[in-house]
Amino acid sequence: SIVVTGATGHLGRHVVEQLLEKVPADQVTAVVRTPEKAADLAERGVRIAVADYNAPETFDGLFAAGDKVLLISGNEFDKGRVAQHTVVIEAAKAAGVALLAYTSAPGSLTAALADDHRGTEEVLTGSGVPYVLLRNAWYHENYTENLAPVLEHNAVVAAVGEGRISSASRADYAAAAVAVLTGEGHENKTYELGGDEAWSMAEYAAELSRQTGREIAYNAVTGEVMKGILTGSGLPEPLAEILVGVDASIAKGELVISSGDLSRLTGRPTTPLAEAVAVALKG
Ligand code: NDP
Repeated sequence: SIVVTGATGHLGRHVVEQLLEKVPADQVTAVVRTPEKAADLAERGVRIAVADYNAPETFDGLFAAGDKVLLISGNEFDKGRVAQHTVVIEAAKAAGVALLAYTSAPGSLTAALADDHRGTEEVLTGSGVPYVLLRNAWYHENYTENLAPVLEHNAVVAAVGEGRISSASRADYAAAAVAVLTGEGHENKTYELGGDEAWSMAEYAAELSRQTGREIAYNAVTGEVMKGILTGSGLPEPLAEILVGVDASIAKGELVISSGDLSRLTGRPTTPLAEAVAVALKG
C-alpha cells in the first residue's frame, strides 16, 4: 500500500488526488486524525486509517511490510514535532516498510523553522528505514492565499530585502512526492525541491499590479517592524518570530533553490507564480 499521513491537510489532499490518477484507490491509505474530514476519500475507495502523532499506540499495526509511506510534517509547533515524527518513523521501522519519504525543509535554510526538520531527518536517516528527504521550499500559496491585507493597503510588506524565493505550488510538491512513491530508485535520496524561477518581492508586487490593474508596491521593512505587524494582526509572538526568522533567511538567499530537482522529478516545469496569483485573484 501507499500510505499518506496528513492526508486531510492542504498538501496531503493534493498528494492523494494525484495518487488516485496513478494507482487503484484500494492501494492508497490516508492517515487522518478526523475521519469525518476524509469521508469523500473513503467513498472513493481509499483506505482510511485513524492515527494521531501525539498518540504512539494509534500507529501500532498501521503500516505493513513493503508499504511506501509519505510522512507529511505536522503543524503543531508547540507539541514537539521531532518526537511526533519519530512515532511514525518507529512504527514504519517496526513494520518493515519499503520506503519512508518525509516532507522537510531546504538544506540551505538556517532559520529556526528548519530545526524540527533537521531533527526529524537525523532520526529518519539513522533509523535504517529506506528514506527519501523531500526538502520542500516555500509554497506560492503562503503568499497568494494571504492577499487580503495586500489588496487592502496596495502594498506587499515583508522583511526579506531584495531576497529571492524559489517557491512552487503545493500541487508541484505533491507531484514530486507522488513520483517518489510510485517510482523506483529513490531509496536514501535527498531532493532539494523549489520552483524553476526565483522571484523578488518587487517582482511579486509588479505581478500583482499587472493582474489587478492597481499600483501595488513592495514595502520592505525590518524584522522588528514585521514582527509587530504580524502580532498586531493576531499571530502569537512565537509564531511571528519564526516567520520573521524565515524572512531573514530569505534576505540571505537561503530559499533560492537551483537544483532543478522539482521539475526533474515531476517531468514538467514548475507552476509560475503568476499562475498562482491568477488562481488566487479569481477565487
Ligand atoms: P496543513 O496545515 O494544511 O496540513 C497539516 C497536516 O498535518 C494536516 O493534515 C493535519 O491533520 C496533520 N497533522 C497535524 N498534527 C497532526 C497530529 N498530531 N497527528 C496527525 N496528523 C497531524 O499544511 P500543508 O498541507 O499546507 O503542509 C504540510 C506540512 O508542510 C505542514 O504541516 C508543515 O509542516 C509544512 N509547511 C510547509 C510550508 C512550505 O511552504 N513548504 C508552509 C506551511 C507548512 P488535520 O487535517 O487533521 O488538521
